[in-house]
Amino acid sequence: MDKRNTELLRAITDYLKNYDGPELRIMEVCGSHTGAIAKYGIPQLLSDRIHLISGPGCPVCVAPSAYIDRMIELSLQPDVIVTTFGDLLRVPGSRESLSEAKGRGAKARMVYSPFDTIDLAKKDPAHTYVFAALGFETTAPVYALMARQVLEDGIPNVKLLTAIKTMPAVIRALMDSGAPVNAFLAPGHVSVVTGSRIWEPLAEQYEIPFAVAGFQGIEILEALYGIARWTNGRSGGRVMNFYPSVVSRAGNEEAQTQIREVFEPVSAVWRGIGEIEGSGLALRGPYAALDAGSRGLSRDVRKNKACRCGEVLCGKIPPTACPLHGKVCTPLTPQGACMVSPEGSCRTWFEGGRKR
Ligand code: SF4
Repeated sequence: MDKRNTELLRAITDYLKNYDGPELRIMEVCGSHTGAIAKYGIPQLLSDRIHLISGPGCPVCVAPSAYIDRMIELSLQPDVIVTTFGDLLRVPGSRESLSEAKGRGAKARMVYSPFDTIDLAKKDPAHTYVFAALGFETTAPVYALMARQVLEDGIPNVKLLTAIKTMPAVIRALMDSGAPVNAFLAPGHVSVVTGSRIWEPLAEQYEIPFAVAGFQGIEILEALYGIARWTNGRSGGRVMNFYPSVVSRAGNEEAQTQIREVFEPVSAVWRGIGEIEGSGLALRGPYAALDAGSRGLSRDVRKNKACRCGEVLCGKIPPTACPLHGKVCTPLTPQGACMVSPEGSCRTWFEGGRKR
């Protein structure tokens, strides 16, 4: 780091450490931010008047149990193989995870890209390959491209089981339910696609600041500094973009077009939170023929009734307030989805030793 950046970093950290303005409760919505905040030890650099709260931005964590159950049900059919990213294998459904169901004959393959599913299906026409497509606005364009390729190439044995969610509606639901939050660290990856303007109506309606941040320690600190400076002495909503190298106000319009062509907004159930109108995306029009039964998966049952993932995801309690955290529930013995994914709040707090 050159001298100028070192001085800038020192000025930012001095300000944040000595901040004595109105109490700030800043939610980092994105799971990657949760991980980065722990990795860089950012809470230790902040005044006691600045609290960071983890939110519902880990896609695996917010998939309801009905989605996991449906994935297992499909994988037990004789001619079906489910393909997923690794995290999802261990997420508990209402009774078991996909990994546990392998003992009963569930067939699942881990993939590194959605397009691996197409390659597998072409080589094995005797099976239907169902790709578990979870994510947010960030990954939706890739899933759209995949669906287009399957349809355009006429590949008969690929389907998608989707659980794609969108951010604005869940933020609105959190604010309307009284979440103890008065600023947001807006997710950088989502903003690349949507543009920073997606946060403007929320900033205006709830009169709170949104700071779009990258994922390096300095980028997160800059965004926190922006929020603190804005709040200290002023009030009202504002969107600040601290990730201008990749985020524009309008976002990636090509990707937005892809999403609109392949998906339509639907109600979605978030694990532990419930159903939120307009917070999901489902395959539309001709692409709906590729759907492996994603709609109407509304049942959300905790395998361990003591799991408090819902309250953790809403920022109502820190992970350590769950009585199972680090005792019964560890990354090796996850009782809830938030302990499975490296982006999950409970796992991040467990592994990073985060205390606040
Ligand atoms: Fe659920 Fe485990 Fe987190 Fe508790 S620590 S809320 S049981 S995932």
